[in-house]
Amino acid sequence: MTATVLVINSGSSSIKYQLVDPEGGEALASGLVERIGEERGRLRHTSAAGVVEHMDPIPDHGAGLRMILDLFATVGPRLDEAGVVAVGHRVVQGGAYFGGPAVADDRVIEVIERLSPLAPLHNPANLRGILVARELLPGVPHIAVFDTAFFRSLPERAATYALDREVARKYRVRRYGAHGTSHQYVARMAAQLLGRPMAELRQVVLHLGNGASASAVDRGRAVDTSMGMTPLEGLVMGTRTGDIDPAVMFHLHRIGGMSVDEIDDLVNRRSGLKGLAGVNDLREIHTLVAAGDRDARLALDVYVHRLRKYIGAYAAILGGLDVLTFTAGVGENDDIVRAEALAGLEFLGIELDPARNAGRKKEATVISTDSSRVAVLVVPTNEELEIARQAVSLL
Ligand code: ADP
Repeated sequence: MTATVLVINSGSSSIKYQLVDPEGGEALASGLVERIGEERGRLRHTSAAGVVEHMDPIPDHGAGLRMILDLFATVGPRLDEAGVVAVGHRVVQGGAYFGGPAVADDRVIEVIERLSPLAPLHNPANLRGILVARELLPGVPHIAVFDTAFFRSLPERAATYALDREVARKYRVRRYGAHGTSHQYVARMAAQLLGRPMAELRQVVLHLGNGASASAVDRGRAVDTSMGMTPLEGLVMGTRTGDIDPAVMFHLHRIGGMSVDEIDDLVNRRSGLKGLAGVNDLREIHTLVAAGDRDARLALDVYVHRLRKYIGAYAAILGGLDVLTFTAGVGENDDIVRAEALAGLEFLGIELDPARNAGRKKEATVISTDSSRVAVLVVPTNEELEIARQAVSLL
């Protein structure tokens, strides 16, 4: 019997789950419970038996997880026969505490709770998932896997903001990063695809989804990343500004009369590609650009300019580059963004092969020329598999 891991990603009103075979990498079932606490909840469960959907009220996370477990029992695969060796829980903020996965015991739960002010939307929701799952699945170890853990290794000079040190210490202000599970998985898969040990490679990973982040990975260790204390910093994203002069916020408050909450909403949910072009999906941006829309063209230019800036900066921090990898929704599917981001970077040793770059990539692929000094890759990310593997690594 194969060993499997149930991976749970609990949000404020949702639970995403996957039953994963960490060895083979296969997902045996997956699903999503949505609109917990609302009038009409929704559950979608996908397995070998097909897709099952329910529309029932789901009062809380406990009820949601109970419905999921019922579906495993009735539709399959049956968890008692699936060899579940652990439940892996995604936790967004591990602060300066967790550099790897941790058994979600009472002490760890208390730390996750204490870190909630750094991720007020996420950590409490992640915790809710852990608590109900521990109750409903008491027979297996529950492992917390942190989105920040891969970046726990950042050198102090990269993690520290040039802010008054007492204030920074008191409020725990520093760069924690995010998407770490994806960056770690992709960096490892990139080395594997090239058949070279991580310990030899200077890598840049570009995780470009609706949220987007870049990382510099020096011989397996993350040495810089673009997201900061929160996921707002860095690259241009679907709806977030990424890097922006913080004094813009004071200006909007003092001169524009906007409240802190309004500014928070503006820079996180109404900016980025959406703010510039009116839409946040790059497919729609390309359609608008092709139709001659100048706002969309500028949005794409700003997006690509920021990417190029980070590629250059990280090449400098790493003292050269061996591998550059694209991942997530945009990185895996958007050949225009990939081509524009790397155009004219031959001086860094980057030569994209237009034919190899063309189209969407469902598998790990080399898209640079054979003579390119830097291997350019697309590697589809798989955070659930990485969580499952990290959970198993603790057993
Ligand atoms: P999330 O951050 O929500 O996990 P994803 O990694 O799924 O996001 O990425 C979603 C984004 O990927 C979409 O907003 C869109 O911009 C982009 N995307 C998805 N498919 C394509 C495609 N075929 N071509 C270009 N961009 C795409």
